[in-house]
Amino acid sequence: MSTLYIVSTPIGNLEDLTQRALAVLRAVDRILAEDTRHSAVLLKRYEIRAPMVSLHEHNEAARTQEVLAWLAAGEDLALVSDAGTPLVSDPGERLVRAVVAAGQQVVPIPGPSALLAALVGAGLPTCPFTFYGFPPRSGTARAELLRQLAAAEHTAVLYESPNRLGRLLADLDAEGAGERSAVVARELTKVHEEFRRGTIHELCAHYAAQPLVRGEVVVLLEGREAAAVDVGTAEALARSLLAAGHPASEVARELVLRLQLRRNQAYRIVQSVGT
Ligand code: SAM
Repeated sequence: MSTLYIVSTPIGNLEDLTQRALAVLRAVDRILAEDTRHSAVLLKRYEIRAPMVSLHEHNEAARTQEVLAWLAAGEDLALVSDAGTPLVSDPGERLVRAVVAAGQQVVPIPGPSALLAALVGAGLPTCPFTFYGFPPRSGTARAELLRQLAAAEHTAVLYESPNRLGRLLADLDAEGAGERSAVVARELTKVHEEFRRGTIHELCAHYAAQPLVRGEVVVLLEGREAAAVDVGTAEALARSLLAAGHPASEVARELVLRLQLRRNQAYRIVQSVGT
């Protein structure tokens, strides 16, 4: 069976190509690259000679049909993006879905990604976390995302361009997240790698004073503290709803809605009073 390999490549430091990625890129019949000129630097550095064809957001739909034909003809292919892991805020999702639907094999070759590098270096809680990719630039989608971020009770990770960083921080501040801990991870794996830590408010002030941000950034926002809950009140409410004949799932939902409990906490309380 033919294989489409999804190969992670460095996000700055060219030493970060895994042995397996190198072996795969040297062995495949063709490399699908987001930007062939960009990936040519990596291929030259590692003497990888497989022919490259482009696969980017503007030709992914058309290219997918060709890829299916190449796989059906017995070729092995590798997908790479400009940096990091394909499909993570990068093209490839449509392609992978089509290849899976066609019954061909997809094999990930894991490696660098700015998302995980930023998360593990930030010093914020790592599980659970939510990855939002790039925030919408305007409109109701942006307003809705900012609202979600301000309400989130776990770490949020976002990609942002350096010239929009100040505005994102200011919007989060305006949304009421000013006192929350946050981290701007910049130039990961590169010479000037930096983790700038502070509250949203402090980071806002820093980047307002120094608006020229060089390099690439990931923004991480710590979740807000869950509201302190009076367990006795929650148990009493759960008991009375259960006694009135409401099913446990409905009771848990009521505890979440009325007392702003986390869902797993609500279920624990319902279980503890129901047994
Ligand atoms: N697929 C890539 C990955 O796995 O990380 C991400 C591609 S996305 C188009 C590019 C964004 O990733 C940048 O705008 C930035 O937010 C983040 N990024 C990529 N490389 C980075 C680096 N070396 N340092 C900080 N952020 C980086």
